Amino acid sequence: MDFAPYIRDIEDFPTPGVVFKDITPLLKDPSAFQKAADALLGLVGNTKIDKVVGVDSRGFIFAPMLAEKLGAGFVTVRKSRKLPYKTISQSYDLEYGTGTLEIHTDAIEKGEKVLVHDDVLATGGTAQAVCKLVEKLGGEVVQCNFLIELTFLNGAEKIKGYRKEALLQF
Ligand code: AMP
Repeated sequence: MDFAPYIRDIEDFPTPGVVFKDITPLLKDPSAFQKAADALLGLVGNTKIDKVVGVDSRGFIFAPMLAEKLGAGFVTVRKSRKLPYKTISQSYDLEYGTGTLEIHTDAIEKGEKVLVHDDVLATGGTAQAVCKLVEKLGGEVVQCNFLIELTFLNGAEKIKGYRKEALLQF
């Protein structure tokens, strides 16, 4: 199935010059939504996955679906000060300034195999920070998995040490 027609470009959102990839047309279509989840699962190799990490906030849509299908646990990485328990944090560069992502200290056990999922790979700063958090807890990133990769932003460079898969490339 070609999912590209279900992705809507929103120009100048959230700031001028950005073309935002809006996935809501995909999500609201029952068949496309289910097929996208299945296709994302198809990108995961044969390695047993212990935890699927979803990235705040649109990574929270498909990551739990993948976790359920893989028989894995679901872990959230959130923007700063959203998680209630003890956390470790990782800063990363944004277009203007820096952002911080956090994970619970008990979210991943040493040696666990982890699948990282987010909706969009843009500059790669977010995914790189998530991988660092996983590794700080002793987890092993088996794959970084995305619905969409914006290839012209070269985010793959930032996570070149990891296996990367994306359903759609623009
Ligand atoms: P980056 O750290 O630049 O790879 O940005 C990735 C994060 O920002 C993801 O969590 C995306 O949800 C979001 N993001 C960045 N650029 C876009 C875009 N053009 N359209 C939709 N989401 C985006």
